[in-house]
Amino acid sequence: MITNTLMNTYNRLPLSFTRGSGAWLWDEQDNPYLDALAGIAVCGLGHAHPTLSQVIAEQAATLLHTSNIYRIPHQEQLAQKLTRLSQMDTVFFGNSGAEANETAIKIARLYGHKKGIDTPTIVVMDGSFHGRTLATLTASGNRKIQAGFEPLVQGFVRIPYNDLAALRQVAEHSPHIVAVLVEPIQGEGGIQVPDDNYLAEIRAICDEKQWLMMLDEIQTGLCRTGQWFAYQHQQSPPARPDIMTLAKALGNGIPISACLASGPAAEILQSGNHGSTYGGNPFACRVASTVIDILEKENLQAHTAQLGKYIRHEFRQQLAPINGITDIRGKGLMIGIELDRPCTELVKMSADNGLLINVTANKVIRLLPPLILTKEEADQIVQRLTKTIKAFFAP
Ligand code: PLP
Repeated sequence: MITNTLMNTYNRLPLSFTRGSGAWLWDEQDNPYLDALAGIAVCGLGHAHPTLSQVIAEQAATLLHTSNIYRIPHQEQLAQKLTRLSQMDTVFFGNSGAEANETAIKIARLYGHKKGIDTPTIVVMDGSFHGRTLATLTASGNRKIQAGFEPLVQGFVRIPYNDLAALRQVAEHSPHIVAVLVEPIQGEGGIQVPDDNYLAEIRAICDEKQWLMMLDEIQTGLCRTGQWFAYQHQQSPPARPDIMTLAKALGNGIPISACLASGPAAEILQSGNHGSTYGGNPFACRVASTVIDILEKENLQAHTAQLGKYIRHEFRQQLAPINGITDIRGKGLMIGIELDRPCTELVKMSADNGLLINVTANKVIRLLPPLILTKEEADQIVQRLTKTIKAFFAP
């Protein structure tokens, strides 16, 4: 049934799915599709993971929600797991990526006011994506998602991504800066991987200036790039942030997000400063806790690192004869294939060929398959997508 009662916010394909298992989805006619998008980096454990499904059923039959005015043991356990894995100190739980980033922005502003800066300003990047609330769309470096929503929120200054000279320049000239908000790899921006020293240099500048380094790991976090968190690729010197936001894969489809903080930033929010009715409820936290356990038990960050390398290598081989491919890049299972021309129609062409993909920044094929993908499924992604790309370029 076609409905026009939904607001027209999405350009939807004429496709809907009735069930899923692992890396596969089935449509209403029971045709199978290999899912190389995982709900945009959400279903890291794939669809209908048996352990997770069992825990979801059990917790749903036990307790969904109480309130943050009581202690929530599942929330405390999840916070312990996340802080142990990330070496951060404290966590605030919300329901979406945008909400986690709003929390980060609020912490940065409070931090600034505590230092006596009455117009605290956050450095943000061209090409970034941080969400659709007013503050997060203002922070995002994409004019399309801001247009029509003016007046935008004050307190942001924008510089090019992966440009340390630009960061040093604002550091010299803008006394009101309190934080830098950055994605370790830009996802919506077209799988943009910065230089190897980028995060370490941002860390050094933030230390020198006493700014908060705030990493949006909503797409990159939780084993997606072959480390638990993408900042952990940078080992010496380390680039541990002061604030890190997570969402997407944390609940594998159950809405939950987290804003983690370390050092002085961990102590900024106090009772009455911030809150969320649903944030960190027993159900979402039990599910997210189980997601973390499975990621750990199945050693998925190592699997992701290896399989991602393999897929990029295979694509380089298979796509080498095609002239219109300008780059194949990424880390772990966050993979971008850039073409020399706009290619959004590839999404439909690929779905017709049984493979679900995404195109972002107009000409970058984005692959974010489930982390539990097998090598055989990886081979199928390469085969199917190569065939579709060849058809796209065929005269
Ligand atoms: N930050 C990044 C890096 C994202 O990729 C996204 C979503 O795509 C968001 C923030 C916003 O998350 P949400 O849609 O859950 O608000």
